[in-house]
Amino acid sequence: MKYRTGIGYDVHQLKDGLPFYLGGVKVEHAKGALGHSDADVLIHAICDALLGAANLGDIGKHFPDTDPKYKGIDSKILLKETYGLVKQKGYVIENIDTVLCLQKPKVAPYLPAMREVLSNVLGIPQDDISIKATTTEHLGFEGREEGVSAMASVLIKSE
Ligand code: MG
Repeated sequence: MKYRTGIGYDVHQLKDGLPFYLGGVKVEHAKGALGHSDADVLIHAICDALLGAANLGDIGKHFPDTDPKYKGIDSKILLKETYGLVKQKGYVIENIDTVLCLQKPKVAPYLPAMREVLSNVLGIPQDDISIKATTTEHLGFEGREEGVSAMASVLIKSE
């Protein structure tokens, strides 16, 4: 058995009046994330962590934001495809840990739904998916509510 780890990081701008998707769940907020896809920063960080663990490049290589095919795409589709690439290489997910950084809104009430959605998309137990959230104490772009960021760490194993 072989284990490999990967990390992922992503950032999106926040703009008034856009829908706000985090972890595959629509969050009610006056602002939403700007991006070529549905701009789900948490899923994008998880995708990059998975690709990194399997040494398969990054999300921009597999799903370029210059490709009209990915305009407005549901990031859950990208996540499913990404995990497919990892499985093709002979690996499965052991666990995922993540951190969401944003000042507003409070996302704690949404975390169980995000874990359920991600568990269904990936076909792994909810217990193997951790989502944490923090403000940045009003510091930096997240603290000024100009953007949202996410970090993810994954462990994959081959049998
Ligand atoms: Mg992104």
